[in-house]
Amino acid sequence: MSLLDLLQTVPAAFVAACLILGLMVGSFLNVVIHRLPKMMELGWRQQCAEFSSAGQADSVSPETASGELATHPPYNLIVPRSACPHCNHPISAWENIPIFSYLLLRGKCRGCGAAISPRYPIIEAISGLLCAYAAWHFGFGPAGAGALLLIWALLALTAIDFDTQLLPDDITLPLLWTGLLFNLSGVYTDISSAVLGAVFGYLALWLVYWGFKLATGKEGMGYGDFKLLAALGAWMGWQMLPLIILLSSLVGAVVGITLIVAFRHGRNIPIPFGPYLAGGGLIALFWGQTLTRGYLHLLSVS
Ligand SMILES: [Zn+2]
Repeated sequence: MSLLDLLQTVPAAFVAACLILGLMVGSFLNVVIHRLPKMMELGWRQQCAEFSSAGQADSVSPETASGELATHPPYNLIVPRSACPHCNHPISAWENIPIFSYLLLRGKCRGCGAAISPRYPIIEAISGLLCAYAAWHFGFGPAGAGALLLIWALLALTAIDFDTQLLPDDITLPLLWTGLLFNLSGVYTDISSAVLGAVFGYLALWLVYWGFKLATGKEGMGYGDFKLLAALGAWMGWQMLPLIILLSSLVGAVVGITLIVAFRHGRNIPIPFGPYLAGGGLIALFWGQTLTRGYLHLLSVS
């Protein structure tokens, strides 16, 4: 029996494989969450530098401008190697095993003893558990594979939005195309529902944004939120959009009110909407059909 046969025929083997894969990718997601916003900031700084040096093209030649930029050490998702932010102790392979290394090191750097944020093992655990659940829910096949991709993207977006109030285009836009590609062969919904889902998802929040802005003069959300809902529409079809918006508003209201009451979180401090959209999207991915059938049933009974 080959490994592929095993994964295909024994559900427990597939669930276990996805749990391990989820833990390992979770570890990489920690790198993405930490570095992608910094990479974006570096990119903006470089663009600003190029723009301002282009403005004084007579005094500064482009060669010296780009020479200055090139002296920055490379910084991306691969380079430099992960190191302790306190003592620069490089993180070896055995210190980088999801969750286990954190427990083994008792949450402290081996070089300087500084505390390692519990967020790293938490993200790894969430990724592992959600992937295992997706494997069990969808089984071996394209729907299961797509669910893993969607989970990883939503997890990274959630954490980045919490940290920076940004939803990077580098994640939301590829997520949108990927949803459309999966639905070319109708994995989650038919392709026309997916295309309309992308369009209406964007427009729905765009309208809310402008309505809110005209009514209150404030900006209630960002363009990243529109793109994220467009991506979720591309994955699950326009029919799921009302449910996703309802679920994310419910979760958002509960968390928002808790923050204001329990932690005296100022009412005017923006609370990112992306994590709630991501949460609503995940619930819709797993239970959307059941929930929709449930409320249609309720409507037909009353
Ligand atoms: Zn250290």
